Amino acid sequence: MALLVQKFGGSSVSDVDSIRRVAQRVVAARQSGDDVAVVVSAMGDTTDDLLDLATQVSPKGPPERELDMLLTAGERISMALLAMAIQDLGVPARSFTGQQAGMRTDSSHGRARLMDVTPSRVAATLQRGEVAIVAGFQGVSEDEDVTTLGRGGSDTTAVALAAALNADVCEIYTDVDGLYTADPRIVPSASRVTRITIEETLEMAAHGAKILHLRAVEYARRFGVPLHVRSSFSDKEGTWILVDRPLTGALHQDGTARHTAPSPTSEDPMEDPLISGIAHDKSLAKITVVGVPDRPGAAAKVIGAVSTAGVSIDMIVQNVSTSPEGLSDISFTLPEVDGTVAVAAVRELQHELGVADVLYTSHVGKLSLVGAGLRSNPAVAQRMFGALAEAGINIEMISTSEIRISVITDQEALEAAVRAVHSAFRLDAEAEAVIYGGTGR
Ligand code: ADP
Ligand code: ASP
Ligand code: MG
Repeated sequence: MALLVQKFGGSSVSDVDSIRRVAQRVVAARQSGDDVAVVVSAMGDTTDDLLDLATQVSPKGPPERELDMLLTAGERISMALLAMAIQDLGVPARSFTGQQAGMRTDSSHGRARLMDVTPSRVAATLQRGEVAIVAGFQGVSEDEDVTTLGRGGSDTTAVALAAALNADVCEIYTDVDGLYTADPRIVPSASRVTRITIEETLEMAAHGAKILHLRAVEYARRFGVPLHVRSSFSDKEGTWILVDRPLTGALHQDGTARHTAPSPTSEDPMEDPLISGIAHDKSLAKITVVGVPDRPGAAAKVIGAVSTAGVSIDMIVQNVSTSPEGLSDISFTLPEVDGTVAVAAVRELQHELGVADVLYTSHVGKLSLVGAGLRSNPAVAQRMFGALAEAGINIEMISTSEIRISVITDQEALEAAVRAVHSAFRLDAEAEAVIYGGTGR
């Protein structure tokens, strides 16, 4: 017998039929003898619809405490409906809000971080042989206010619950058959990845592959939670995300490995770069600070001003100064939504630093090739840049890590860039990936 945490995303519970289908899947797992804790997202586009309502009643911008109160209602609806559907199939089930499930967070509304997870009521429910259902994406702060973990945060709830319960595996059920070599909505010929390391998954999630919430992957790595990403619409095998230090629960009492990932096969090449996939991010902007005095502390001031304004910076490039006056340019990318705040922060410094100009480019795209051993294989970069050149796509910035090469391009060209690089590395599968639902937003 194993302990499973199963998480179902919004597109998996978008209507009555879907909720009943999910209920059947949960019941089948329970009836096969496993203990099952479920985490659900809000139905379909409910979170977007609630956000829309909030902006309509409050055009100046909804207060964040009330917004969290509103948004958490989405997950409460789906958790209760799923509990009813499971009970209707004759299996006892009980739903819990984030607060009832012991999800304590800090008080940063809209982006709260988990501080303590003590799901004692969930554990007691499982002990009684019942199914426990937990509302994703939400918690409660020290002041007993309801908080949300940020968009896509139900994945993080699921992983945190799996860690706290010492579950054998955290299954992430979604609207595609697993993690692919690129977003199948952009590259229909993308291939499903059967196994991937948690580090590579982290790079994919950090650079735009929204199939998993970045914080969920970070949490899984930290606490050794094995993840299994699969479709709630099919029985295909999905993708196993391998952790270095699996939870002790992964060792079953009867010695079976029903819910553990397959081990590497002898066909895996030993030292070739192994491309895991391509992530893309369409939500970026770029700021270029022109004519920055080339002296110690200048970059620190520019970047410091932006981060003090609460904006996270991604890629930074400083040109080598070639002018007789010793001036250089600093460019960096940032989330497009933070553009106005960041530009204002840099402009405030313009006079003090004697900077010539601050240029802002919205609609910037980033493509990231992720895989083991990329930096030590220069041929990989050569092939990637060659594919972009052949497709007539200009590279604006480049950054690398041990397992990633990222380039900044014009946002309009990004999808073509992803397809070009994907084919250049022969990642295309013969059959098209199936997209079962959702909008990919
Ligand atoms: P859920 O509602 O189940 O949480 P999401 O919409 O958050 O689902 O994530 C699933 C979507 O992630 C897919 O429909 C797909 O468009 C997108 N996606 C982006 N990159 C990838 C990738 N590399 N592999 C699979 N899906 C991806
Ligand atoms: N319902 C929330 C969202 O749409 C959380 C989630 O689905 O993970 O972002
Ligand atoms: Mg999601």
